Amino acid sequence: MGKFNINHFICRSDNYGVIISDKNTGLTASIDAPDAEIIDQELKINDLKLTHLFITHKHLDHIEGIEYLKDKYSCKVIGPEKEKDEIPLLDITVIDEEYIDFSGSPIKIIETPGHTLGHIIYHFEQDNLLFAGDTLFLMGCGRVFEGTHKQMFESLEKIKKLPPNTAIYFGHEYSLANAKFAASIWPDKHIKKRLDEIESLRAQNKHTIPTTLDAELITNLFLMGDNTSLKRKLDMGDAKEEEIFSELRTKKDTF
Ligand SMILES: [Zn+2]
Repeated sequence: MGKFNINHFICRSDNYGVIISDKNTGLTASIDAPDAEIIDQELKINDLKLTHLFITHKHLDHIEGIEYLKDKYSCKVIGPEKEKDEIPLLDITVIDEEYIDFSGSPIKIIETPGHTLGHIIYHFEQDNLLFAGDTLFLMGCGRVFEGTHKQMFESLEKIKKLPPNTAIYFGHEYSLANAKFAASIWPDKHIKKRLDEIESLRAQNKHTIPTTLDAELITNLFLMGDNTSLKRKLDMGDAKEEEIFSELRTKKDTF
C-alpha cells in the first residue's frame, strides 16, 4: 500500500471527483473541481481539509468548483500555464516536464495537448499514479476539441512510455461506451472479457476507476495502433500508428 488514500466519487452526471490525501501529513488534494458541494461533502465525511487543487484543463466541468473551494479552504490552486487566462484563481502555473512536490512525492507535469491545447496530466512518479483528466479514459481517450489528431496521438504516446503498473485515474465514467466501441471494432478476447467485467460493474452502479496502463495497453485501441490484427480489422494493414489512431478517433466521434 502506498502512503496515499484515494477517494473517488461521481460529480455532475459522469465526471469523477478524486481526492488524494496523506494521513501522516494531512495534505489533501482534489484532482479538478467538478462540483464544489460534492467535493466538500467528501472532505467532511473523511475528516479532511483541502490543501491543493490540481487542475488538468479549462473545461467548466473541471473548474467550476475552484472559487468555492479556494474561498473555504484557502487551498493552493495549480494548473496549466497555457490555460492560465481561462482558469480562475491559479496560484501556481506549470509547464511540461516541470516537477512539483506533494507531501514529499515528486509529481511530474506532462503536457498532453489534443482535448484542449493546454491540457496537463499529473504523474506521481514514486507512487505509480497518473491523474489523466480528459486525455486518457478506460479503453478510450478524450475527444479532440482543440488540437489535431497528431497532437493527441503524441500525447498518448507519452502516457504509453510510463511504467506499465501505473494506476490511472481519469476524468469521466465513459468505460461502458468505450468498451462497446472497442468490441465493435475488434472483438478480441481481452476486449470482450473487459467489456463483460465493465457491464457487470456498471449494472451494479460500481465505479470502473482506476485503470492500469498494462490493462490499457491490451484493451485500449487508441494505444494499439501498432497491433497487426487491429490494423487488418480496419483494412489498414500498411498504415502508420498515427493513421490508425486518427481513423479510430473519427469512428468513435460518431459511434
Ligand atoms: Zn474536458
